[in-house]
Amino acid sequence: MKTIGMLGGMSWESTASYYKALNEGINQQLGGLHSAKIVMFSVDFDEIEKLQHRDDWKGAANILADAAVNVEKAGADFLLICTNTMHNVYDDIVDKTALPILHIADATAEQLTIDGVKTIGLLGTGFTMQQDFYKGRLRDKYNINVIVPSASEQKMVHKVIYDELCKGKIIADSKLAYLAVIDKLFEQGAEAIILGCTEIALLINQSDTNITLYDTTTIHAKAAVELALNN
Ligand code: GLU
Repeated sequence: MKTIGMLGGMSWESTASYYKALNEGINQQLGGLHSAKIVMFSVDFDEIEKLQHRDDWKGAANILADAAVNVEKAGADFLLICTNTMHNVYDDIVDKTALPILHIADATAEQLTIDGVKTIGLLGTGFTMQQDFYKGRLRDKYNINVIVPSASEQKMVHKVIYDELCKGKIIADSKLAYLAVIDKLFEQGAEAIILGCTEIALLINQSDTNITLYDTTTIHAKAAVELALNN
């Protein structure tokens, strides 16, 4: 079994979901007392969040690239960046570490491709919904068309992530607001929805809607389990 490297803490609420999913995934495959081999560097999210909102992506990239080097030195075989948003600095991390990195958008797009989904709605942080590092990868590498919510809806989705979900607050009104946005994206032609922020599955899951949801935390962890067990 390969050792899975994790850049976590963004936020730790979703890193906890990853940790559980990775261990459950390995145990489902190997049974008994088997669990995942993991090396994790968990950052202080306050530092990262401040750099994001100051638009200092280089500063955030330096912290994560240094963390990746530490994970490599500690013996990981490959790396997960356990957040969609921070794939914005994927290239900077690739430059600094020899570890292969399993890109969260690639893992998600591969599942969408298998399922034949051509047009997808995307929920995530404002950075993920607005900038091109995520949508562009789905479009250019996988030919998947991405629809995002309106500006005011994006604001709400972003605020709920940082003010609630990253702090472990699960609020019923926010769930209803998210479900309304999902319905609207569906009406606009989205065949399914990417939960493109690793905390969103803490708020909504497939039992809340008939519209198919692609939870990036689950998909990323599943791809990591496959890679860890694949010789
Ligand atoms: N975990 C989130 C994501 O998947 C947001 C937190 C962050 O900015 O990294 O995008």
